Amino acid sequence: MTKHEIPARGGLAVAVERGQRFRIITPAGAQAADFFAYAADNLREWLSPMHTWVATRSVKPRVGDTLLSRFRRPLLDLVEDGAGGMHDMMIAACDQARYEQFDFEGPHGSCSENLRSAMARLGHAIEVVPQPVNFFTNTVVEPDGKLISPPNTVPPGGYVELAARMDLICVVSSCPFDLQIFGWTINAPGGPTELVVEVK
Ligand SMILES: [Zn+2]
Repeated sequence: MTKHEIPARGGLAVAVERGQRFRIITPAGAQAADFFAYAADNLREWLSPMHTWVATRSVKPRVGDTLLSRFRRPLLDLVEDGAGGMHDMMIAACDQARYEQFDFEGPHGSCSENLRSAMARLGHAIEVVPQPVNFFTNTVVEPDGKLISPPNTVPPGGYVELAARMDLICVVSSCPFDLQIFGWTINAPGGPTELVVEVK
């Protein structure tokens, strides 16, 4: 088993072989983990929530669901959920422009930048930022279609475990979102915290 620690606001890209288990843990709880996955032999084939939810008929990933690529091929199975189902597949990865929309001045770390720099450390240039699966992120679609983000209540030690269906490169970002926006709580009020990734 290989254990990786991702510092608060940081990112990690790691190779995962077919049949391996990939576990993401929020030790402090309530830390959004943006998750991306690519076919190891073709980086143009990436995990796609839009193609997944039409097959699983759920806008949340659930135990037993298979996460599909944009070519509708199975990339990973969700085999354990130690976070009570508190996940999101709709919010785009945060980026500099998102923080500027909130009137933040100056550069701000983001999941998009974490993806680019983590993949660059493996020698890969990323031109498109795919829609991530946002584990440990609390979004709710209300009956009238309204999308809300209530406080994140994933407990300390919350985790998910995935099983790789093909050789992959998996990327996890500790979402740097730290703005105090009423009604849009992504992380714990104390700010972003670390994540742990285990590959076994
Ligand atoms: Zn983010």
